[in-house]
Amino acid sequence: MADVEVPFNDLVAQYATIREEIDAAIRAVVRSAAFIRGAEVDAFEEAFGDYCGAEAVGVGNGTDAIELALRSLGVGRDDEVITTAHTFIATVEPIVLLGATPVLVDCRPDTCNLDADQLERAITPRTRAIIPVHLYGQPADMNAVGDVARRHGLPVVEDAAQAHGALLDGRRAGALGDVASFSFFPGKNLGAYGDAGAVVSRDPEICTRVRRLRDHGRDRKEKFDHGMVGRNSRLDTLQAAVLNVKLPHLDAWNTRRRAIAARYTERLAGVVSTPVEIPGSESVYHLYVIQLPPPVDREALRSELRARGIATGLHYPRPVHLHGGMRQALGLSPGAFPVAEAVAGRILSLPIYPEMSDAQVEAVCDALVDCLRGRS
Ligand SMILES: *Cc1c(COP(=O)(O)O)cnc(C)c1O
Repeated sequence: MADVEVPFNDLVAQYATIREEIDAAIRAVVRSAAFIRGAEVDAFEEAFGDYCGAEAVGVGNGTDAIELALRSLGVGRDDEVITTAHTFIATVEPIVLLGATPVLVDCRPDTCNLDADQLERAITPRTRAIIPVHLYGQPADMNAVGDVARRHGLPVVEDAAQAHGALLDGRRAGALGDVASFSFFPGKNLGAYGDAGAVVSRDPEICTRVRRLRDHGRDRKEKFDHGMVGRNSRLDTLQAAVLNVKLPHLDAWNTRRRAIAARYTERLAGVVSTPVEIPGSESVYHLYVIQLPPPVDREALRSELRARGIATGLHYPRPVHLHGGMRQALGLSPGAFPVAEAVAGRILSLPIYPEMSDAQVEAVCDALVDCLRGRS
């Protein structure tokens, strides 16, 4: 039995720190029986929009947020949308579901984010949008992406599902492109108690279109005026109530994540390759992802760590183009994106969450250093 157990995340520990506020907020919604829309949703949209430096529209989840953002830009059948080969599958699904074609670009070996140097050659006359992902909480190279996008008159959609509060040149994720998608999946830096998401933009017309699309194409004031074919992807009111309690804690939680990351980097530099932040950026370390030196057997290492009470994760062990469904849709084979494919075999996510104790952080470092030393 290990001295210190370290789970990958600990949402129960987080609940313990905010229990009274959360319980009161949930009780208030249940008592009012206002489960759809209402003041909690408006309040959260206002607060989260202000936080990002833009306007926020609550939606059902982060995957819908990407779909609605793309639809608000008019992306549809026969269009192409460029994104990265190394991301969660949810970045790419909405492109396919809209009848458009995902065009993937390889990632950078250091940040694992979209390689902006390879962006331009992926653009064709059918390209309608670019989706950089702020993977692991680390802002993508938005200045370089923005330069290419501007030259070609293309909108930039940030997938900010992992980057609530991340900064680039003093601006927050969500205000770095034309429109952004956020997920409030429970384990994200700002997480609901179920599925939830938001579309964020500084463009009021985009926000108006998303507001209509998420609510059956309805005009806000005209209940039976379905001016466009929309769908139902509203932000649930109970989730909005939870998010209203949690948002004021986000900066402190992110600060703690950054402190844990700094300690990991201090202890692990030279042992494994540690995350890098691009100039001008502040990652919020949704994940702390190291890259193992090539000969290390990752699964053996993971089970050794597990035996010592340390949980780890993989984000993501297989690039987008090598998943069954996508592979067929895209017609790509192994070798198409060599960096993404190499990185997928080397990455390892260490536990990182605000409630983690210093002793737990040291236990992870001790165990990892020990296991790797035993192998060389
Ligand atoms: C979590 C996540 C999503 C999807 O969010 P859901 O709320 O689970 O639909 C999309 N993109 C990335 C990069 C994510 O991490």
